[in-house]
Amino acid sequence: MRLLIMGPPGAGKGTQAKKIAEHYGIPAVSTGDIFRANVAAGTPLGLEAKRIMAEGGYVSDEITNGIVANRLDEDDAEHGFLLDGYPRTLPQVHALDAMLGARGHRLDHVISLQADVDAIVERLKKRAELEGREDDTEEAIRVRQEVYAKETAPLLAVFSERGLLVEVDGLGSMDEVSERIFAALDAG
Ligand code: AMP
Repeated sequence: MRLLIMGPPGAGKGTQAKKIAEHYGIPAVSTGDIFRANVAAGTPLGLEAKRIMAEGGYVSDEITNGIVANRLDEDDAEHGFLLDGYPRTLPQVHALDAMLGARGHRLDHVISLQADVDAIVERLKKRAELEGREDDTEEAIRVRQEVYAKETAPLLAVFSERGLLVEVDGLGSMDEVSERIFAALDAG
């Protein structure tokens, strides 16, 4: 299984990604988690990503593509993976196509997790209280929704044209949503 999970910030991608990965026995690769780990460790990459992330913008394609290429080269990703939060731009889609093509691989499905904006903002506010993520300020939440709408939402059409898109309603309990995802993937 080579999967992507997409959806607006706060739709619950990270939570579902972990459950899906566990279900299919593949690693969940979250570019956001990789960046946060670098910020926490104070690496040069982390220093560069920290400000961009706090403002709600995107880290450069060059840097992001590089970390994904390295991660997909690790042994545990040889037979499958679930990418969470990547690709987010058209150049990232093309970079991923090239990475997979070079290895003779292709994507099986792209999960599109759907959620409405009010539900998302509520979820993000709650997460801000629970996790204290630096990019869960009201301003950063707004910027992230705008950047998503402009840069990332259009990618759904690209994957739809490729016949890869699996649309799932992201509203409901964590288990309800994962059951929906498993049913949709098994049907596809
Ligand atoms: P996430 O945990 O997926 O919400 O990502 C948190 C932040 O990390 C994003 O708001 C971006 O600043 C950065 N980030 C994560 N993935 C990417 C990506 N594919 N391209 C650019 N920036 C990213």
